[in-house]
Amino acid sequence: MGTNFLKIIFLSFLGISIFLLQPLTVLGVTIMDVRLWAAPDHTRIVLDLTGPIQYESSSQESPPQFQLELKGGLLKTLKKEMEVKDPCVTKISLIELGKDRVKLILHQKKPLKTNVFFLKPYQDKTHRLVIDLIDVVQEKKELEERQRQKEIKPKGTKIVVIDPGHGGEDPGAVGPKKTMEKEIVLKVGEKVVHLLNQNKEIQAFLTRKGDYFIPLEERIKIGREYGADLFVSLHTDGSFNPLVRGSSVYCLSLSGATDQAAKILADKENTSNILGGAFLRPAAFAKDPNLNQILLDLMQNNSMKESLRLAETILEDIKTINPLKYPSYRQANFIVLKAPDFPSVLVEMAFITNKEDERLLNHNDFQEKMARTLSTSIKKHFKP
Ligand SMILES: [Zn+2]
Repeated sequence: MGTNFLKIIFLSFLGISIFLLQPLTVLGVTIMDVRLWAAPDHTRIVLDLTGPIQYESSSQESPPQFQLELKGGLLKTLKKEMEVKDPCVTKISLIELGKDRVKLILHQKKPLKTNVFFLKPYQDKTHRLVIDLIDVVQEKKELEERQRQKEIKPKGTKIVVIDPGHGGEDPGAVGPKKTMEKEIVLKVGEKVVHLLNQNKEIQAFLTRKGDYFIPLEERIKIGREYGADLFVSLHTDGSFNPLVRGSSVYCLSLSGATDQAAKILADKENTSNILGGAFLRPAAFAKDPNLNQILLDLMQNNSMKESLRLAETILEDIKTINPLKYPSYRQANFIVLKAPDFPSVLVEMAFITNKEDERLLNHNDFQEKMARTLSTSIKKHFKP
């Protein structure tokens, strides 16, 4: 309200205040949409707004509820009440309290920790208000379960962590038929894990088990909690040129990208944090004081070598089912590949923006073939 008022005064000096009378009525903020993403340990609620707003929050214990009073000059909401199927929330209510306030009530199933933050417009996303409802008990359980897996693993067993890219607010690349990268990579990821787990000497896990967002750094952390011996991030490529096709494999580069195209791709994959709305919980990303830099460099060197070896194996195998975009692996600064303590590669299975590749990616047979190929490469990597 204040800024609009100032704008009017300023423009009045210029003598064009009359023109402003009309647009002023549309200067308010509208809550356009409400989306909800359920992760095992939290639910994320996202409000799409046509502009920035202010809010005041409060919560109550019985019944458990989280309330936000939203203020934004002229404020209205297109959504009113939504019943939802979710582990944390039963209903979302938006109530207009006069012309400048809207009350948001999240009816919870249990007491939850909340975390509210704004995301600025980015690419095709508008202003967003994000509310994370965190189930602290479940969060702890998930973490303990991962660590337990690491502890009970039989001697000689290799742990493989498959990371389906994107998720939730971040759809990844989108095909001409609106196929979303986040959906395809989850499907293939599930198949790879299933195939790998048929081997006694391998245990495979997913970083993401549904349609929700995980920040890139947290994916590495999940890998580490499982005690990963290998980490494979799954993606489908996207291009403005609908004719570009093929598979490619990427590794981290510690000294600049191998080429401009690899750099652009890494930048694009790294924006996942911005699109998906990474709110980094500081404790999770603090540097481990027990790791010294020399040791870290040694680990990184060894992981790098192993990553490159795996990338070569995957390329050899993948070319039997899909044309390669490049005959060799490429390297760039991918955040998700930055674990110093285990080898990691990123696979762009095909181009979702190409009609034929999109058709293949949607096809169960191709997904199976891709999963079988990747699991074969991973097994080969452990038994060279
Ligand atoms: Zn991707």
